[in-house]
Amino acid sequence: MSLIVIAGPAGVGKGSLVSWILEHDHRFLLSVSATTRAPRPGEIDGVHYQFVSKADFDSMITNDQLLEWAVVHGTHYYGTLISELARAEANDQHLLLEIDLQGARQVKKRLPEAISIFVSAPSFEILESRLRNRETETDAEIQTRLETAKAELAAAHEFDFRVINDDLALTGQKIIEIATHQERET
Ligand code: 5GP
Repeated sequence: MSLIVIAGPAGVGKGSLVSWILEHDHRFLLSVSATTRAPRPGEIDGVHYQFVSKADFDSMITNDQLLEWAVVHGTHYYGTLISELARAEANDQHLLLEIDLQGARQVKKRLPEAISIFVSAPSFEILESRLRNRETETDAEIQTRLETAKAELAAAHEFDFRVINDDLALTGQKIIEIATHQERET
């Protein structure tokens, strides 16, 4: 079992990539994070996230239930549940963590054997237009995400691998190859 950390700026298509991988290769499992943000329309508790209160999140921190956690985009708390590792292990699957830069750094520190992959867009302009077109954020939220994106892009070199998401299937396949090839090597 490998632990694959996928990070990259908002709007780069991490969610679509992860969905593509899960659909095409059943050796992969998505780590369901805990978050204090409210569900968006269509999001299901326990499937997309574990939607929890701030008090619940605090107790997860206190009880050492989180592998990493961070305040993302300056508002809500997000964290990876350690129990997700056991779930992947029990199913003999590779665990995909779609988390932010702060979280990616914490995971690498705690589990250096994790494979970190940074996903970027072909250009900043493309990133901006994808972010505006998905219409899930307000203008102010888009602005925050673009600011965060700049900081994240500057940290791309910290990752074990970098991929440019110019084509969903090709990039998804590339991530699968990175994850499974690495496993053969170790
Ligand atoms: P969204 O609210 O749009 O679902 O996610 C916002 C950001 O939170 C994304 O960049 C995503 O990668 C990040 N995120 C989701 N789950 C986690 C987590 O468990 N830990 C950390 N550090 N970031 C997360």
